[in-house]
Amino acid sequence: MKMLVIEDEEELLRFTLTYLRSEGYVCEEAATFQEGMEKINLYDYDCVIADIGLPDGNGLHLVRQLKSKLSDTGVIIISARNSLEDKIEGLDIGADDYLTKPFHLSELNARIKSILRRRKFQGNKEIDFHEIHVLPETMQTLVNGREIALTKKEFDLLIYFISNKDKVLTKEYIVEHLWGDYMDTADSYDFIYAHVSNLRRKLIESGAHDYVKSIYGVGYKFTDLEAK
Ligand code: CA
Repeated sequence: MKMLVIEDEEELLRFTLTYLRSEGYVCEEAATFQEGMEKINLYDYDCVIADIGLPDGNGLHLVRQLKSKLSDTGVIIISARNSLEDKIEGLDIGADDYLTKPFHLSELNARIKSILRRRKFQGNKEIDFHEIHVLPETMQTLVNGREIALTKKEFDLLIYFISNKDKVLTKEYIVEHLWGDYMDTADSYDFIYAHVSNLRRKLIESGAHDYVKSIYGVGYKFTDLEAK
């Protein structure tokens, strides 16, 4: 799952990023309104955590911009003061949740999980795709009731595939989603190929159908619709 944290207080930004990365999220950062706006316009995120009080703009405008893209990105706004007006306006323009500083990072994490559950998995704590059963919170995958061992990237890839089933996912899109903007794209397609191949092999070996379709020159599609 890919996050964008927009926060101008450097120490809080560092703490938040370190914590979220240790929880297994791919995280990008922005320290200003301008930087946040650029990233929102260029990339897709599963969840954006935006401070309202930025030195060069109001975080609520970022939320508005994000929502005008009609994306299914979750949004949590962070405010320095407990302002009811900010809260109401934020929720009104489409933010999913609201936290007032200071907050516990574990609380932020709980809110993120709840948003992702709601947005990505229709409120379910567990994901089923035919014989494949995934438990995101404990990072377990079962095929026909038997647990299989996936690496973190394979696991993220599987969730990404299932939550985007029947869609053509380009390699660029997969790289951006699973690695963020730190990955050098020149090498990254080989990585994608290796991770997809390993995931596919592990699923097939454990008795699952082969749902991963390669689309030559483009990317992949995870689907149960096409004939073998
Ligand atoms: Ca601030």
